[in-house]
Amino acid sequence: MFETLSDRLAGVFTGLRGKGRLSPADIDATAREIRIALLEADVALPVVRQFIAAIKERASGEELSQALNPAQQVIKIVNEELIAILGGETRRLEFAKTPPTVIMLAGLQGAGKTTLAGKLARWLKGQGHTPLLVAADLQRPNAVTQLQVVGEQAGVTVFAPDPGNTSGVEISGPGGDPVAVSRNGVAEAKAKLHDVVIVDTAGRLGVDADMMQQAASIRDAVDPDEILFVVDAMIGQDAVTTAEAFRDGVGFTGVVLTKLDGDARGGAALSVRQVTGAPIMFASTGEKLSDFDTFHPDRMAARILG
Ligand code: GDP
Repeated sequence: MFETLSDRLAGVFTGLRGKGRLSPADIDATAREIRIALLEADVALPVVRQFIAAIKERASGEELSQALNPAQQVIKIVNEELIAILGGETRRLEFAKTPPTVIMLAGLQGAGKTTLAGKLARWLKGQGHTPLLVAADLQRPNAVTQLQVVGEQAGVTVFAPDPGNTSGVEISGPGGDPVAVSRNGVAEAKAKLHDVVIVDTAGRLGVDADMMQQAASIRDAVDPDEILFVVDAMIGQDAVTTAEAFRDGVGFTGVVLTKLDGDARGGAALSVRQVTGAPIMFASTGEKLSDFDTFHPDRMAARILG
């Protein structure tokens, strides 16, 4: 995913190899090259600015100008600053003191929410939890069936609206009531002693007031312990604007980056932490339920720096 950035940064470091102490002009030139590398990888402009300011500050603080091996020192500084923009520490899920822990997923259609619901459920089950998946995406045709399929693959129960129910409360598909489904799903989890509930909500193709309203209503109905904003790392700068829209419209406690296996530049997704202030908690790297892991800022930085 981050080949462009890796290659560009590697080029900057190669240019510094064998150099003695760096002059202020060398430091400026290096900062400029790093800036271009970040911008070319689609890292959001405010994040790039902050990154470069930090590097220049550390350079003028003599950390760099006094270094005998500037290439190594620049790599060290870039590594530490990358870890910082990615959030520093790994942020783990917070479980409710009184179960069930309610995790709500939000994001655009196609971001990978339903797939993620299955991945998260499988992962939690592997840690001894007893998750319940709740199918509250009644917008996208097949979303309920798709959740049932991933639930089956994960070996996890799925709470879905009853398609035969014509009472107007829990109809599957558009016109059904996702808020009622979510509320009933949480009640079901309490009754059946599931310790975690994962609520899959509906997205739209783009940011949309109805979608935000619906997600906010679900949030208010289920009072989630975590709201995970799911974002496709391949959508470029839209990742940042979408994140801002969801932060303002629904709010979230964590971010999940999906499709990190893609070959797009991905830098925008790496900016989401810095722009929204919410930690990146998980990363999705494929269509299989096992293509999923906790997000570790230090490991991601190491990967980018090759
Ligand atoms: P939703 O509309 O947000 O529920 O998105 P889906 O879970 O249906 O995912 C949309 C498409 O992206 C599906 O074809 C998934 O198989 C695919 N997908 C989801 N996560 C990933 C991922 O991490 N990598 C890749 N390559 N594809 C993914």
